[in-house]
Amino acid sequence: MLKIKALFFTGLLLSGLFSECLASPLAEQWAKVTRPTYAVNSQSIGTYNAGCISGAVSVPANGTGYQLMRLSRNRAYGHPDLKQFIESLGQTAAQQHLGSLLIGDLGQPRGGPTLSGHRSHQSGLDVDIWFLLSKQAASRTLALNERETWNAPSVLAGQSDAINYTQWSLANEKVLEAAARMPEVDRIFVNASVKRELCIRHTAQGWLRKIRPWWKHDDHFHVRLKCPKDNKYCQGQDPLPQGDGCDAELNWWFSKEAKHPVIPKAPPKELALPALCDSVLKE
Ligand SMILES: [Zn+2]
Repeated sequence: MLKIKALFFTGLLLSGLFSECLASPLAEQWAKVTRPTYAVNSQSIGTYNAGCISGAVSVPANGTGYQLMRLSRNRAYGHPDLKQFIESLGQTAAQQHLGSLLIGDLGQPRGGPTLSGHRSHQSGLDVDIWFLLSKQAASRTLALNERETWNAPSVLAGQSDAINYTQWSLANEKVLEAAARMPEVDRIFVNASVKRELCIRHTAQGWLRKIRPWWKHDDHFHVRLKCPKDNKYCQGQDPLPQGDGCDAELNWWFSKEAKHPVIPKAPPKELALPALCDSVLKE
C-alpha cells in the first residue's frame, strides 16, 4: 500500500520537476490574459492541476495582518472564498500578534496552467504563504522592491531534515493550526520535517490531519481550499486518509525512496483542461 502511494507521489514530484521545461503553448495563452472574466457567481472549474476559474477576484496587495509578495507576476487572483480565507487568516495573525503573513502566488486572472514551475493553483483555490520571517519580520509594510527581491528563507538547517530554530517559531504553528481549523480548507502542504515538528508537539489533534507532507515546502506552506458551494464543475481531491498522519506514512517521507526518486527520461504529459475552460480563455 505504502509502495503504491510512493509511486503515485513520485509521479507527481516528477511532474513538478519537469514542469519548468514544459512552457507549453497552452500555458503561454493563459499567462497572457491580464484580466478575469466577469461572473455573478464565481466558478472554479476542473481540478487544482488542470482547471480554470471564471469570475476570479484579485486580493488587495495589503490587508490586516497580510501583504502580497511578487506583485509584478499578476498572480493575485482566486475564487472569492480564497480572498476571504486570506483576509480572515490575516486577521487572526494580527489579533494574535504573530507578524505579517507574506502571501506568495495565488492564481492567474483566469487560472489555468502557468509558465512557472507550478502545476497546481489552476482553479483559483490554492495559495502559497511564506513561513513567518524571524527577525526582519515584518509587521511593517514592505516596499515594492522588497516584495520582488526578498526570498522566503527555509526553515530547515542546511540541506538536512532538521528544523532550524532560528527560522522556525511557535508563531508558525499557530498560523498553521488556525488555517487548518478553518472549515473551507481542504488540506495544507508542508515539508515533512515541519509535519514531524507539529506531530511531536500536537499529536492526536484533529486539525493535524489536514497538514500533509510534500516535497520542498520548507520555505512556505500551500493552502488548498475545498470546492466552493454550488461550483458544480469544480472537482475536489479524494478525501484525506483517517488519522492525524503522524504515523508510518510520515516516516516514508524520510526514506531513501522518497528522497531519491528515479527520474524517467520523458517528461509527463500536460493534463487536458475541461472543455468549459476554452470559453473562459476566449471570453
Ligand atoms: Zn503552491
